[in-house]
Amino acid sequence: MRKKSAREIEVASPTGFCFGVKRAIESLEKSIDECSARWEGHRNVYSIGMPIHNPQEVERLTRKGLVVVDRIEDVPPGASVFIRAHGVSPAVKDALVKRCGSGVTDATCPFVKNAQEKAALLSGEGYPVLVLGDPGHPEVQAIVGCAGGEVFVASSLGEVEKLCKKDRLGVISQTTQKSEVLGAAAKILAPRVRELRIFNTICGATTQRQEAVRKITDHVDGLLVVGGKNSANTAKLVEIARSRECDVLWIEQAEDLDCRWFREKKKIGIAAGASTPDWIINELINAIETSQVSRGMEDYDGRNEK
Ligand code: SF4
Repeated sequence: MRKKSAREIEVASPTGFCFGVKRAIESLEKSIDECSARWEGHRNVYSIGMPIHNPQEVERLTRKGLVVVDRIEDVPPGASVFIRAHGVSPAVKDALVKRCGSGVTDATCPFVKNAQEKAALLSGEGYPVLVLGDPGHPEVQAIVGCAGGEVFVASSLGEVEKLCKKDRLGVISQTTQKSEVLGAAAKILAPRVRELRIFNTICGATTQRQEAVRKITDHVDGLLVVGGKNSANTAKLVEIARSRECDVLWIEQAEDLDCRWFREKKKIGIAAGASTPDWIINELINAIETSQVSRGMEDYDGRNEK
């Protein structure tokens, strides 16, 4: 716990980069460094889609040599290409290997890989597959691509309720899903499906960060959640904190701080999504403790006391 002036800051534990993202970013940086060394800085590493849901980290990597593209056709044949922690469907991976050969670095998180394998296994054994998650999320799209047969995605319990009765059904979840949602979906489905097979593919890193937010909201006056606005796991942390009636400010970096939010708050919690790098968390703490932001808060408190 850090103490400074009249305010206390407590950082949730664990928080920030998870194992899979850390592993992927290290692998990407290694790939960029090897490329630069081999081609004297004239070659880039391509990623289809953002390698991480954090705009500031993507900007840092872009300065080093990362190029983010939208489509496979935008990757020059023979180039170095990076598969992010969210993974890709087998069809996309095959197309990349065909285009770039040994230039493909696959940094799919092992937990995502596990969900992909379970989808393929269930499909292979003839179960229709239900994926509990966001159909627009690349991780879910990759999982869907691994299920060869009938596959549905439900983004809410309401959508699970709408599923008609089935003889058999296999269920897996997006790795960032809330455990309560998986449990509630199992309760809804159990009376309606004769043979129900559920794999809990929620990642431990996600549940630990969610639990850390539940704990910290019990004893802080407000919670700063740091992470990309495009990060699903950060959004879940915000949702959990708000459901516990905690005053939450969701920011991407220290620059987004609003001094007014700190009014009448003596103890502030900080939590970060699994895609938020340590350097952003440290800059935020530093800004609160030592910089202009801190002075701005004191000025604001001073005005309020008058
Ligand atoms: S949140 Fe879990 S599944 Fe997702 S990248 Fe991190 S460790 Fe892997």
